[in-house]
Amino acid sequence: MNKTIIISNRLPLQIKLDHDKLQVEPSVGGLATGLKSVHNDGNSLWIGWSGLTEEELNEEQSKEVKKMVKEAKCDAVSLTQNDLENFYYGFSNRTLWPLFHYFMEFTEFENDYWESYKEVNQKFADKVLEHVEDGDTVWVHDYQLLLLPKLIKDKKPNTTIGFFLHIPYPSYEIFRTFPWREELLHGMLGADLIGFHTYDYERHFLSSVKRILRLDVNFNEITYHDRIVKVDSFPMGIDYDKFHDSAIKQKAEEKSELQKRLDDHINSSPDARMILSIDRMDYTKGIPNRIRAFEYFLKKYPQYKEKVRLIMLAVPSRSNVPQYQKLKRDTDELVGRVNGEFSTVSWTPIWYFYRSMPFENLIDLYTSSHVAMITPVRDGMNLVAKEYVATRTEQDGVLILSEMAGASKEMNESMLINPNNFEQIADTLKYALEMPIEEQQSRMKILQKRLKRYTVEKWAEEFMKSLHATKHLGAVIAAERLDEKVQERMYAGFKQSENRLFLLDYDGTLAGFKDNPKEASPDQQLYKLLDQLQSNPKNDVVIISGRDRETFTEWFGDEDYKLITDHGVWLKTKDHQWEALERLKNDWMENIKPILETFVDRTPGTFIEEKKYSLAWHYRKADPELAQIRTIEIDTVLTSLTSNNDLSVLKGNKVIEIKSSSVNKGRASSRLLTANNYDFMFCIGDDWTDEYMFEELPETAYTVKVGFKKTAAKYYVKNTDEVRTVLKKFVE
Ligand code: UDP
Repeated sequence: MNKTIIISNRLPLQIKLDHDKLQVEPSVGGLATGLKSVHNDGNSLWIGWSGLTEEELNEEQSKEVKKMVKEAKCDAVSLTQNDLENFYYGFSNRTLWPLFHYFMEFTEFENDYWESYKEVNQKFADKVLEHVEDGDTVWVHDYQLLLLPKLIKDKKPNTTIGFFLHIPYPSYEIFRTFPWREELLHGMLGADLIGFHTYDYERHFLSSVKRILRLDVNFNEITYHDRIVKVDSFPMGIDYDKFHDSAIKQKAEEKSELQKRLDDHINSSPDARMILSIDRMDYTKGIPNRIRAFEYFLKKYPQYKEKVRLIMLAVPSRSNVPQYQKLKRDTDELVGRVNGEFSTVSWTPIWYFYRSMPFENLIDLYTSSHVAMITPVRDGMNLVAKEYVATRTEQDGVLILSEMAGASKEMNESMLINPNNFEQIADTLKYALEMPIEEQQSRMKILQKRLKRYTVEKWAEEFMKSLHATKHLGAVIAAERLDEKVQERMYAGFKQSENRLFLLDYDGTLAGFKDNPKEASPDQQLYKLLDQLQSNPKNDVVIISGRDRETFTEWFGDEDYKLITDHGVWLKTKDHQWEALERLKNDWMENIKPILETFVDRTPGTFIEEKKYSLAWHYRKADPELAQIRTIEIDTVLTSLTSNNDLSVLKGNKVIEIKSSSVNKGRASSRLLTANNYDFMFCIGDDWTDEYMFEELPETAYTVKVGFKKTAAKYYVKNTDEVRTVLKKFVE
């Protein structure tokens, strides 16, 4: 039976070593809750780190951890103290975290960290490979394991792999500064489905893939070697009922000490208002901004002095990293300054807690606060904002939320603010404090409805559904791989035949793509291979290309095989005669060329190739996104002109070519077919223009596409190296 394997940096367990005694507790975090149904259902396994390093455990304890972990349907990856320092505190927290949150000035590009990151991802991969079998489904989580999808896919291609990033994905302009950017992208692209919290992160990722790896992206699907990788957004939710029901329950039960204290304050001044913020002490959370904005609010609206209180819970986090230590010092100082400036004998404007609180106390804080003020400068999602909404059982209260938090995309009914705009925050806070109850409720109602529907379980379910659906993605591409079995049949047919046709496209098929098409001349190995193929009198070898007659004369003029150039205008026969297959005019060019030139001027990196019978606009080196826009523009501009002149616009591989409609490789091929009675046909090409030949050839022909693209060919090979391997076997 097929398994599901979940992989995250930490296991959904808390294992503690207390006076040499091991204790295990299930984790209550969002991810563990969301994946509970996936993990509990049927055959599944969770792989991650236990939280204790090799050095912390003796042999006996290690065995015990293994046992505990196994009982919870998990397996632990063993990490050393050194791994933790370099991979976790180093690369994950000092490189990826700041960079992906747009804190470039905090980002450390240390080679030792990177080496460790690769090693630890490999350790995770080794552990997964101990368990994973063909047909299994794997779900990898978060920024600590960006290389893992590839490490698994390379070894086990017949598994379905999902990856979800829980933090933001930065814009291309940020990501491009990263020294190991290609490796990270390839690592992620090992997955079949890549998920982000928001569409913005998704489009940033796609933009990096297009610009850095120059891959073809079609809406949200990436063609990657011979696979399609799907990218989508799945905003993570919360366990809504847990928060909502706890809020109801705690109101009915005996109150906690904290709740009693909060009630005392509320009762002593019933018109006073509490403003809440809860976050990890992290520079991404905008804590100093919030304090400064609150200070500004008190100055701008002094009528609120002694009437409002900011309750700020900051949970200690990564306190061994210098920036976090500085943030703590800055926060302490700011809180001191504001409290020093505004406090009265009966009022302190900021209550500041630097600690974590048990769940019940969090609920007390949520339910007692009139306003939640969540102002991160950058945040992948922000669950606190959602939790606050879930606990508002009377549907009162106002959420002020930074538009830099992923959550803001689904929480439009909250009061959205820019965390850097103190004026706006102060005014929004005033508005929130004065908001009529009806407006509070109408906003809260919509927010709650959405959160109740799209819970964390639903999020996991949707991701898994989408992941399973990727299994059918390849099926839209009709071609079958030219694998060994097909090849065996093909070579057998070849041997038995007497009159054979080889129709071979040149660029992207016999030769790899070069930035400058003039440089893509044939190599010695290719000449040798073609000569060998040609030397067999039963073979009719034809190179068929969009290139012009002059170039091909220079490259292949002395060779004995046939050449078809300019997409089918000219044929060079075996007796070295050039024969025009079509009579063409080229007077249209002087009208079209200036139009193409305006596109060259406005699209850096593009150029025009002028051929005898066609004009080609190449955009291989241009910005892929700009080029995409320009191709649509060109198409629109040229359509009316070309239809009147019997011209067609061909969209090739990173090239647009304008040529006579009556010429194409299909027509040229069919002439060959009519003139000869072939009993074996092999036709190969990579480009859109080759589709004409594939369509023209009979059912019995071996039509082969180079690359994994939609095609009328029956088979496909991955790349030009494979083309050579296949051709070599015809001459062995
Ligand atoms: N939280 C907690 N204890 C605390 C304060 C907060 O467990 O003392 C929880 C809070 O309920 C929320 C999570 O920590 O579920 C914070 O998640 P969020 O997405 O807001 O921020 P992150 O820390 O993941 O960046």
